[in-house]
Amino acid sequence: MAISNTHALVLASPGMGHITPALALAKHLVTHQITPKLTFIYGTIKTSTPSKAETQLLQLAMKENLFDLISLPPLDLTTLVGPHASVETKIATIMHEIPPLFVSTISTMNLNPTIIIMDFYLSQVIPLAKNLKAPKFSFATTNAWLLALALHTPTLDKEIQGEYVNDENIPISIPGCKPIYPHDLYDMLKDRTHRLYHEFVGACEGASLADGVFVNTFGELEPRTLEALGGSGHITKVPVYPIGPIVRDRDPNVDERRRSDVVEWLDTQEEDSVVLVSLGSGYAMTFEQIKEMALGLELSGKKFVWAVRPPITKAGNEHYFTAGEKSETGTTVASNPFPEEFYRVQSNGLVITDWAPQMDILKHPSIGAFVSHCGWNSVIESVSCGVPIIGWPLYAEQMMNATMLAEEVGNSIRVKVSPSTNMVGKEELAKVIRKIMDMDDKEGCVIRAKAKELKRLAQRAWSRDGSSYLALSTIFLSNDV
Ligand code: UDP
Repeated sequence: MAISNTHALVLASPGMGHITPALALAKHLVTHQITPKLTFIYGTIKTSTPSKAETQLLQLAMKENLFDLISLPPLDLTTLVGPHASVETKIATIMHEIPPLFVSTISTMNLNPTIIIMDFYLSQVIPLAKNLKAPKFSFATTNAWLLALALHTPTLDKEIQGEYVNDENIPISIPGCKPIYPHDLYDMLKDRTHRLYHEFVGACEGASLADGVFVNTFGELEPRTLEALGGSGHITKVPVYPIGPIVRDRDPNVDERRRSDVVEWLDTQEEDSVVLVSLGSGYAMTFEQIKEMALGLELSGKKFVWAVRPPITKAGNEHYFTAGEKSETGTTVASNPFPEEFYRVQSNGLVITDWAPQMDILKHPSIGAFVSHCGWNSVIESVSCGVPIIGWPLYAEQMMNATMLAEEVGNSIRVKVSPSTNMVGKEELAKVIRKIMDMDDKEGCVIRAKAKELKRLAQRAWSRDGSSYLALSTIFLSNDV
């Protein structure tokens, strides 16, 4: 397909979770020659110590010099909500304050983009930026099922009174899609009195006004939901384009020594024999849960690479704004933080207590399964590498992701949390690891085969005649100048 004369403006909300996929999309657009010119503008938060991981990510992008990078003036959350505000309040404040900041900053610049793409949570830019004549697209860095819920939320908001989670047995219906049971519901919809819910509804309404919504999935991964989104118009009138998998190729947050140490160790292991365990960049677990995990890994008898942060006294997402940082303070257990079992099991694997080179690990042929919290970036990376997933969802949209993978996609199994301890026990962890990795397990065999098939289909989606490449190229060519 011929290269267009377009100038794409890509806008990213602050934080690693937004900047990482937006940068990956920008890089795909330029390196696949879909656009010859691209400007990337990202939000920032004022902090006393800038995030090292985020700085490295942006420095690598500058060094690659594929497009211009511009930062917005930093948002001062401490002044806006005080130093002790919850993660939810901070996110709500960002979602409220950042869109007008983007619009006012862009208006003062002489950029003349021919197409504007913003991450989904920035979609309130769309009604605010009517004077920017270029077509506007929202980029959902999630799956189609969560996007369907998001685009249906303004309707739910009008039709349903009270909270969405009153009765555990009554699911939320989305036309043409798998229903969502309250225990899986996206966190943003769990408290309709919170500011965060209202900001989310605002973003969903903004996205409904876009010229189109891109979503980081591909046709064969979620056929039923994509058909519902594209077909009858019962969920949305806005066109939805699956453009995934958008996956970054290299992680700048890992030093080369760490990368080569891990890869060299993996090189000495047999094919499909090692389980990767990582519950994401923003979560830390309790001492007791880490001990159960260590015992579960030992009981499984499998080799492992385990990315784990030092335990904290109360499990949670408090690292959301410091993802990728090594230093831990506050509720971290101070001296000799890990349980004795954590050290004992290390003869059977590798332990990484800061930033793991996740993509390098997933790509390695010795990896046979991934115990994952099911953050969508991790899922789509695992899908691209053909690695089956053991879903251990924790918060946000991860429960929906884990359910969808296990019940619809078929490349995954989900761990059961014990109702008495509210933890995943060692026997349960060992059982699911063996089920996926033991070559004679029939169910595991089907799941592994599905994961391998998805890898092939994911590669095809971004080939020259693949669905995701063609969808984006066609949109850019139709907005050519
Ligand atoms: N990641 C990584 N090393 C780590 C932890 C995370 O490279 O030790 C990367 C991972 O590959 C993914 C991202 O960080 O690209 C995490 O995003 P995801 O959506 O999976 O979950 P989150 O951590 O944002 O909840």
